[in-house]
Amino acid sequence: MLMVAGPVLGSEEKSALASVVDSGWITMGERVREFEREFARAHGVKDAVAVSSCTSGLHLVLLALGIGPGDEVLVPSMTFVATVNCIVHVRAKPVFVDIEALDRPVMSRDDAARKCTDRTRAVILVHYAGYVLDRDDWREFARSRGLRLIEDAAHAAGATGAGPFGDAAAFSFYGNKNMTTGEGGMVVAEQPDVLDRIRTMRSHGMTAGTFQRTMARNSGYDVTAIGFNCRMDEFRAAVGLVQLQRLGDWNRTREQLTRLYVERLDPEILIPFTQDLARNAPSAYHIMPIVLPEGVDRRQVVDHLRALEIQTTMHYPPVHSLSVYRNLFKGVTLPVTEEFAGRELTVPLHPGMEPDDVQLVASALDGALSRTGKRPGSPARATMQSDPVLVSSV
Ligand SMILES: *Cc1c(COP(=O)(O)O)cnc(C)c1O
Repeated sequence: MLMVAGPVLGSEEKSALASVVDSGWITMGERVREFEREFARAHGVKDAVAVSSCTSGLHLVLLALGIGPGDEVLVPSMTFVATVNCIVHVRAKPVFVDIEALDRPVMSRDDAARKCTDRTRAVILVHYAGYVLDRDDWREFARSRGLRLIEDAAHAAGATGAGPFGDAAAFSFYGNKNMTTGEGGMVVAEQPDVLDRIRTMRSHGMTAGTFQRTMARNSGYDVTAIGFNCRMDEFRAAVGLVQLQRLGDWNRTREQLTRLYVERLDPEILIPFTQDLARNAPSAYHIMPIVLPEGVDRRQVVDHLRALEIQTTMHYPPVHSLSVYRNLFKGVTLPVTEEFAGRELTVPLHPGMEPDDVQLVASALDGALSRTGKRPGSPARATMQSDPVLVSSV
Protein backbone atom coordinates (compact mmCIF):
# COMPACT_ATOMS: atom_id res chain seq x y z
CA MET A 1 0.00 0.00 0.00
CA LEU A 2 1.27 3.47 -0.89
CA MET A 3 0.68 5.32 2.37
CA VAL A 4 -0.23 8.99 2.79
CA ALA A 5 2.62 9.43 5.27
CA GLY A 6 5.16 7.32 7.07
CA PRO A 7 8.19 7.70 9.29
CA VAL A 8 11.69 7.10 7.94
CA LEU A 9 13.62 5.22 10.63
CA GLY A 10 16.76 3.14 10.37
CA SER A 11 20.02 1.98 11.86
CA GLU A 12 21.05 5.46 13.05
CA GLU A 13 17.92 5.78 15.15
CA LYS A 14 18.47 2.26 16.51
CA SER A 15 22.02 3.00 17.61
CA ALA A 16 20.96 6.38 19.05
CA LEU A 17 18.39 4.54 21.18
CA ALA A 18 20.95 1.92 22.20
CA SER A 19 23.33 4.64 23.34
CA VAL A 20 20.66 6.02 25.67
CA VAL A 21 20.20 2.54 27.16
CA ASP A 22 23.94 2.27 27.66
CA SER A 23 24.20 5.74 29.20
CA GLY A 24 21.90 4.91 32.11
CA TRP A 25 20.26 8.38 32.02
CA ILE A 26 16.90 8.14 30.33
CA THR A 27 14.93 11.33 30.81
CA MET A 28 15.46 15.11 30.74
CA GLY A 29 19.22 14.97 30.43
CA GLU A 30 21.90 16.21 28.09
CA ARG A 31 20.34 14.82 24.93
CA VAL A 32 17.09 16.69 25.49
CA ARG A 33 19.06 19.90 25.99
CA GLU A 34 21.18 19.24 22.92
CA PHE A 35 18.07 18.51 20.85
CA GLU A 36 16.57 21.84 21.98
CA ARG A 37 19.70 23.72 20.98
CA GLU A 38 20.03 21.98 17.61
CA PHE A 39 16.37 22.45 16.77
CA ALA A 40 16.59 26.14 17.67
CA ARG A 41 19.68 26.56 15.52
CA ALA A 42 18.03 24.85 12.56
CA HIS A 43 15.07 27.21 12.85
CA GLY A 44 16.99 30.43 13.30
CA VAL A 45 16.02 31.08 16.92
CA LYS A 46 18.07 31.31 20.13
CA ASP A 47 16.51 28.52 22.14
CA ALA A 48 13.65 26.03 22.31
CA VAL A 49 11.89 23.84 24.86
CA ALA A 50 11.26 20.16 24.12
CA VAL A 51 7.86 18.90 25.23
CA SER A 52 5.82 15.71 25.14
CA SER A 53 3.74 16.79 22.11
CA CYS A 54 2.76 19.77 20.01
CA THR A 55 -0.57 19.73 21.82
CA SER A 56 1.05 20.12 25.24
CA GLY A 57 3.31 22.76 23.70
CA LEU A 58 0.34 24.84 22.52
CA HIS A 59 -1.34 24.43 25.88
CA LEU A 60 1.76 25.70 27.70
CA VAL A 61 2.14 28.57 25.22
CA LEU A 62 -1.40 29.79 25.92
CA LEU A 63 -0.79 29.60 29.67
CA ALA A 64 2.61 31.29 29.43
CA LEU A 65 1.09 34.13 27.40
CA GLY A 66 -1.61 34.55 30.02
CA ILE A 67 -4.56 33.58 27.81
CA GLY A 68 -7.44 32.49 30.03
CA PRO A 69 -11.10 32.83 31.02
CA GLY A 70 -13.05 35.48 29.12
CA ASP A 71 -10.44 35.75 26.37
CA GLU A 72 -11.27 35.05 22.75
CA VAL A 73 -8.81 33.34 20.46
CA LEU A 74 -9.10 33.46 16.66
CA VAL A 75 -8.43 30.03 15.17
CA PRO A 76 -9.15 28.28 11.88
CA SER A 77 -11.65 25.43 11.96
CA MET A 78 -9.64 23.78 9.18
CA THR A 79 -7.11 22.23 11.55
CA PHE A 80 -6.54 19.23 13.74
CA VAL A 81 -8.81 19.35 16.80
CA ALA A 82 -5.83 19.67 19.18
CA THR A 83 -5.30 23.30 18.13
CA VAL A 84 -8.75 24.20 19.41
CA ASN A 85 -8.84 21.87 22.42
CA CYS A 86 -5.93 23.81 23.94
CA ILE A 87 -7.96 27.02 23.86
CA VAL A 88 -10.85 25.35 25.67
CA HIS A 89 -8.47 23.81 28.23
CA VAL A 90 -7.34 27.28 29.34
CA ARG A 91 -11.02 28.30 29.55
CA ALA A 92 -10.75 30.79 26.73
CA LYS A 93 -13.21 30.87 23.82
CA PRO A 94 -12.23 29.68 20.35
CA VAL A 95 -13.62 31.92 17.62
CA PHE A 96 -13.65 29.98 14.36
CA VAL A 97 -12.36 31.79 11.31
CA ASP A 98 -12.96 30.75 7.70
CA ILE A 99 -10.18 29.92 5.26
CA GLU A 100 -9.11 32.29 2.49
CA ALA A 101 -10.06 30.19 -0.53
CA LEU A 102 -10.31 26.60 -1.77
CA ASP A 103 -6.81 26.91 -3.18
CA ARG A 104 -5.45 28.63 -0.07
CA PRO A 105 -6.90 26.79 2.94
CA VAL A 106 -5.34 28.99 5.60
CA MET A 107 -7.01 31.44 7.98
CA SER A 108 -8.52 34.44 6.18
CA ARG A 109 -7.33 37.80 7.52
CA ASP A 110 -10.53 39.45 6.30
CA ASP A 111 -12.73 37.03 8.23
CA ALA A 112 -10.38 37.21 11.24
CA ALA A 113 -10.67 41.02 11.22
CA ARG A 114 -14.48 40.79 11.10
CA LYS A 115 -14.47 38.45 14.09
CA CYS A 116 -12.28 40.59 16.33
CA THR A 117 -14.01 41.94 19.42
CA ASP A 118 -12.74 43.80 22.47
CA ARG A 119 -12.20 40.40 24.10
CA THR A 120 -9.93 39.03 21.37
CA ARG A 121 -6.52 38.36 22.85
CA ALA A 122 -4.74 36.00 20.49
CA VAL A 123 -4.59 34.43 17.04
CA ILE A 124 -3.45 30.87 16.43
CA LEU A 125 -2.19 30.43 12.89
CA VAL A 126 -1.97 26.93 11.50
CA HIS A 127 0.72 26.40 8.88
CA TYR A 128 -1.54 24.04 6.97
CA ALA A 129 0.39 21.51 4.83
CA GLY A 130 3.62 23.17 5.98
CA TYR A 131 3.22 26.52 4.16
CA VAL A 132 4.43 29.45 6.26
CA LEU A 133 2.61 32.37 4.67
CA ASP A 134 2.11 36.12 4.97
CA ARG A 135 4.52 36.61 7.85
CA ASP A 136 4.54 40.43 7.67
CA ASP A 137 0.77 40.75 7.17
CA TRP A 138 0.03 38.59 10.20
CA ARG A 139 2.57 40.38 12.37
CA GLU A 140 0.95 43.69 11.43
CA PHE A 141 -2.53 42.23 11.98
CA ALA A 142 -1.61 41.18 15.52
CA ARG A 143 0.50 44.24 16.36
CA SER A 144 -2.14 46.77 15.29
CA ARG A 145 -4.77 45.04 17.45
CA GLY A 146 -2.56 44.21 20.43
CA LEU A 147 -3.02 40.46 19.93
CA ARG A 148 -0.68 37.59 20.72
CA LEU A 149 0.39 35.68 17.62
CA ILE A 150 0.79 31.94 18.10
CA GLU A 151 1.81 29.43 15.45
CA ASP A 152 0.63 25.83 15.31
CA ALA A 153 3.70 24.75 13.36
CA ALA A 154 2.94 21.02 13.61
CA HIS A 155 3.26 20.74 9.81
CA ALA A 156 6.17 23.10 9.40
CA ALA A 157 9.33 21.54 10.89
CA GLY A 158 12.29 22.55 8.79
CA ALA A 159 10.34 24.94 6.53
CA THR A 160 13.08 26.70 4.61
CA GLY A 161 13.44 30.45 4.84
CA ALA A 162 10.86 30.82 7.58
CA GLY A 163 11.74 30.98 11.20
CA PRO A 164 8.77 31.26 13.52
CA PHE A 165 7.47 34.82 13.51
CA GLY A 166 4.84 35.03 16.22
CA ASP A 167 5.11 35.25 20.01
CA ALA A 168 5.52 31.49 20.14
CA ALA A 169 5.30 28.43 17.91
CA ALA A 170 4.80 24.73 18.64
CA PHE A 171 6.09 21.92 16.41
CA SER A 172 5.05 18.25 16.39
CA PHE A 173 7.17 15.11 16.16
CA TYR A 174 4.23 12.72 15.99
CA GLY A 175 4.76 9.63 13.83
CA ASN A 176 3.30 11.07 10.64
CA LYS A 177 5.02 14.46 10.77
CA ASN A 178 8.07 15.55 8.73
CA MET A 179 10.40 14.34 11.48
CA THR A 180 9.39 12.13 14.35
CA THR A 181 10.27 11.07 17.87
CA GLY A 182 7.18 8.85 18.12
CA GLU A 183 5.45 11.35 20.36
CA GLY A 184 7.02 14.70 21.04
CA GLY A 185 7.06 18.40 20.30
CA MET A 186 9.10 21.57 20.52
CA VAL A 187 8.23 25.12 21.49
CA VAL A 188 10.02 28.29 20.46
CA ALA A 189 9.18 31.79 21.69
CA GLU A 190 10.29 35.29 20.88
CA GLN A 191 10.64 36.47 24.50
CA PRO A 192 13.09 34.53 26.71
CA ASP A 193 10.80 34.94 29.76
CA VAL A 194 7.94 33.23 27.90
CA LEU A 195 10.23 30.33 27.07
CA ASP A 196 11.38 30.21 30.69
CA ARG A 197 7.80 30.00 31.92
CA ILE A 198 7.12 27.17 29.48
CA ARG A 199 10.27 25.35 30.64
CA THR A 200 9.13 25.59 34.24
CA MET A 201 5.51 24.61 33.52
CA ARG A 202 6.70 21.62 31.51
CA SER A 203 7.94 19.99 34.68
CA HIS A 204 5.42 20.65 37.47
CA GLY A 205 6.43 24.29 37.88
CA MET A 206 9.65 23.16 39.55
CA THR A 207 12.68 25.43 39.57
CA ALA A 208 15.16 22.62 38.86
CA GLY A 209 15.00 19.19 37.25
CA THR A 210 16.54 15.93 38.47
CA PHE A 211 19.50 16.35 36.15
CA GLN A 212 20.36 19.87 37.35
CA ARG A 213 19.93 18.82 40.97
CA THR A 214 22.21 15.83 40.49
CA MET A 215 24.82 17.93 38.75
CA ALA A 216 24.66 20.78 41.26
CA ARG A 217 24.54 18.39 44.23
CA ASN A 218 21.68 20.56 45.36
CA SER A 219 18.70 18.42 46.16
CA GLY A 220 16.35 21.31 46.84
CA TYR A 221 13.77 22.85 44.59
CA ASP A 222 10.93 25.29 44.74
CA VAL A 223 7.64 25.25 42.83
CA THR A 224 6.69 28.59 41.32
CA ALA A 225 3.67 27.66 39.19
CA ILE A 226 0.99 24.98 38.94
CA GLY A 227 2.68 23.02 36.20
CA PHE A 228 2.28 19.76 34.32
CA ASN A 229 4.34 16.81 33.25
CA CYS A 230 4.93 17.63 29.58
CA ARG A 231 8.53 16.44 29.48
CA MET A 232 10.48 14.75 26.74
CA ASP A 233 12.76 11.81 27.49
CA GLU A 234 16.28 11.00 26.30
CA PHE A 235 15.12 8.24 23.94
CA ARG A 236 12.97 10.67 22.02
CA ALA A 237 15.61 13.37 22.01
CA ALA A 238 18.20 10.89 20.70
CA VAL A 239 15.92 9.93 17.83
CA GLY A 240 15.03 13.58 17.27
CA LEU A 241 18.70 14.55 16.93
CA VAL A 242 19.16 11.96 14.19
CA GLN A 243 15.94 12.93 12.41
CA LEU A 244 16.79 16.62 12.55
CA GLN A 245 19.99 15.93 10.62
CA ARG A 246 18.00 14.39 7.81
CA LEU A 247 15.06 16.81 7.82
CA GLY A 248 16.51 19.16 5.21
CA ASP A 249 17.02 16.38 2.66
CA TRP A 250 13.61 14.92 3.37
CA ASN A 251 11.89 18.27 2.93
CA ARG A 252 13.71 18.80 -0.38
CA THR A 253 12.40 15.43 -1.55
CA ARG A 254 8.91 16.43 -0.41
CA GLU A 255 9.21 19.63 -2.42
CA GLN A 256 10.25 17.77 -5.57
CA LEU A 257 7.37 15.33 -5.21
CA THR A 258 4.93 18.20 -4.61
CA ARG A 259 6.08 20.01 -7.74
CA LEU A 260 5.81 16.78 -9.70
CA TYR A 261 2.20 16.41 -8.51
CA VAL A 262 1.46 19.95 -9.73
CA GLU A 263 2.85 19.00 -13.12
CA ARG A 264 1.11 15.66 -13.42
CA LEU A 265 -2.31 16.02 -11.84
CA ASP A 266 -5.27 16.61 -14.12
CA PRO A 267 -5.91 20.36 -14.51
CA GLU A 268 -9.47 19.81 -13.32
CA ILE A 269 -8.13 18.99 -9.88
CA LEU A 270 -7.55 22.10 -7.81
CA ILE A 271 -4.17 22.07 -6.09
CA PRO A 272 -3.92 24.36 -3.05
CA PHE A 273 -0.89 26.66 -2.75
CA THR A 274 -0.02 26.51 -6.46
CA GLN A 275 0.55 30.29 -6.44
CA ASP A 276 2.65 30.07 -3.30
CA LEU A 277 4.68 27.24 -4.83
CA ALA A 278 5.25 29.34 -7.95
CA ARG A 279 6.74 32.16 -5.86
CA ASN A 280 8.76 29.70 -3.72
CA ALA A 281 6.98 30.55 -0.47
CA PRO A 282 8.58 28.89 2.56
CA SER A 283 7.17 25.43 3.18
CA ALA A 284 7.92 22.07 4.75
CA TYR A 285 5.60 20.37 2.18
CA HIS A 286 4.01 18.28 4.91
CA ILE A 287 0.96 16.91 3.08
CA MET A 288 -0.45 16.89 -0.44
CA PRO A 289 -4.04 18.10 -0.28
CA ILE A 290 -6.07 18.26 -3.50
CA VAL A 291 -9.58 19.57 -4.13
CA LEU A 292 -11.73 17.32 -6.33
CA PRO A 293 -13.90 18.87 -9.05
CA GLU A 294 -17.35 19.94 -7.93
CA GLY A 295 -19.93 17.15 -7.91
CA VAL A 296 -17.42 14.29 -7.84
CA ASP A 297 -18.30 11.53 -5.37
CA ARG A 298 -15.26 11.52 -3.10
CA ARG A 299 -16.20 8.14 -1.65
CA GLN A 300 -15.87 6.56 -5.10
CA VAL A 301 -12.49 8.18 -5.67
CA VAL A 302 -11.25 6.94 -2.30
CA ASP A 303 -12.44 3.40 -3.08
CA HIS A 304 -10.94 3.44 -6.56
CA LEU A 305 -7.54 4.49 -5.16
CA ARG A 306 -7.72 2.01 -2.32
CA ALA A 307 -8.34 -0.81 -4.79
CA LEU A 308 -5.09 0.28 -6.46
CA GLU A 309 -3.39 0.16 -3.04
CA ILE A 310 -3.17 3.92 -2.66
CA GLN A 311 -4.15 5.28 0.73
CA THR A 312 -5.88 8.64 0.98
CA THR A 313 -7.06 10.67 3.97
CA MET A 314 -8.78 13.98 4.66
CA HIS A 315 -7.31 17.08 6.29
CA TYR A 316 -9.50 17.91 8.14
CA PRO A 317 -13.07 17.44 9.24
CA PRO A 318 -13.68 21.07 10.31
CA VAL A 319 -13.44 21.36 14.09
CA HIS A 320 -16.71 23.35 14.33
CA SER A 321 -18.50 20.39 12.73
CA LEU A 322 -17.31 17.82 15.31
CA SER A 323 -20.03 16.79 17.80
CA VAL A 324 -18.56 18.30 20.93
CA TYR A 325 -17.84 21.63 19.23
CA ARG A 326 -21.15 21.65 17.35
CA ASN A 327 -22.86 21.41 20.73
CA LEU A 328 -20.60 23.88 22.53
CA PHE A 329 -20.62 26.59 19.86
CA LYS A 330 -23.92 26.45 18.02
CA GLY A 331 -24.66 28.11 14.73
CA VAL A 332 -21.12 28.49 13.39
CA THR A 333 -21.03 28.51 9.58
CA LEU A 334 -17.87 28.81 7.56
CA PRO A 335 -18.81 28.48 3.88
CA VAL A 336 -15.36 28.15 2.34
CA THR A 337 -14.09 25.76 5.03
CA GLU A 338 -17.17 23.58 4.59
CA GLU A 339 -16.85 23.49 0.81
CA PHE A 340 -13.15 22.67 1.10
CA ALA A 341 -13.78 19.91 3.64
CA GLY A 342 -16.38 18.37 1.32
CA ARG A 343 -14.02 18.16 -1.65
CA GLU A 344 -10.54 17.78 -0.14
CA LEU A 345 -8.53 14.60 -0.48
CA THR A 346 -5.00 14.08 0.83
CA VAL A 347 -2.82 11.91 -1.41
CA PRO A 348 0.48 10.26 -0.46
CA LEU A 349 3.52 12.49 0.15
CA HIS A 350 6.58 11.37 2.07
CA PRO A 351 10.30 11.10 1.44
CA GLY A 352 10.12 7.33 0.96
CA MET A 353 8.25 7.88 -2.34
CA GLU A 354 9.69 7.78 -5.84
CA PRO A 355 8.64 10.00 -8.77
CA ASP A 356 6.92 6.92 -10.24
CA ASP A 357 4.61 6.86 -7.22
CA VAL A 358 3.39 10.36 -8.06
CA GLN A 359 2.71 9.20 -11.58
CA LEU A 360 0.82 6.22 -10.21
CA VAL A 361 -1.41 8.42 -8.06
CA ALA A 362 -2.01 10.90 -10.89
CA SER A 363 -3.05 8.10 -13.20
CA ALA A 364 -5.25 6.47 -10.56
CA LEU A 365 -7.01 9.81 -10.08
CA ASP A 366 -7.51 10.08 -13.83
CA GLY A 367 -9.13 6.68 -13.80
CA ALA A 368 -11.30 7.56 -10.83
CA LEU A 369 -12.46 10.84 -12.32
CA SER A 370 -13.34 9.39 -15.71
CA ARG A 371 -15.35 6.70 -13.92
CA THR A 372 -17.45 9.25 -12.11
CA GLY A 373 -18.39 10.60 -15.53
CA LYS A 374 -17.69 14.15 -14.43
CA ARG A 375 -14.56 14.46 -16.33
CA PRO A 376 -14.06 15.06 -20.05
CA GLY A 377 -10.85 13.69 -21.56
CA SER A 378 -7.89 16.04 -21.50
CA PRO A 379 -4.49 16.05 -23.18
CA ALA A 380 -2.79 15.69 -19.79
CA ARG A 381 -4.49 12.35 -19.31
CA ALA A 382 -3.53 11.05 -22.73
CA THR A 383 0.15 11.71 -21.95
CA MET A 384 -0.05 9.92 -18.65
CA GLN A 385 -1.70 6.85 -20.08
CA SER A 386 1.04 6.44 -22.65
CA ASP A 387 3.80 6.85 -20.10
CA PRO A 388 5.83 3.60 -20.16
CA VAL A 389 7.01 4.07 -16.55
CA LEU A 390 3.45 4.22 -15.40
CA VAL A 391 2.45 1.13 -17.35
CA SER A 392 5.25 -0.87 -15.74
CA SER A 393 4.44 0.33 -12.21
CA VAL A 394 0.80 -0.65 -12.64
C1 LIG B 1 -0.34 16.71 14.58
C2 LIG B 1 -0.95 18.04 14.83
C3 LIG B 1 -1.12 18.53 16.12
C4 LIG B 1 -0.86 17.71 17.34
O1 LIG B 1 0.46 17.31 17.43
P1 LIG B 1 0.85 16.27 18.61
O2 LIG B 1 2.35 16.35 18.62
O3 LIG B 1 0.36 14.94 18.17
O4 LIG B 1 0.23 16.74 19.84
C5 LIG B 1 -1.62 19.81 16.27
N1 LIG B 1 -1.95 20.56 15.21
C6 LIG B 1 -1.83 20.11 13.94
C7 LIG B 1 -2.20 21.01 12.82
C8 LIG B 1 -1.33 18.83 13.71
O5 LIG B 1 -1.23 18.37 12.46
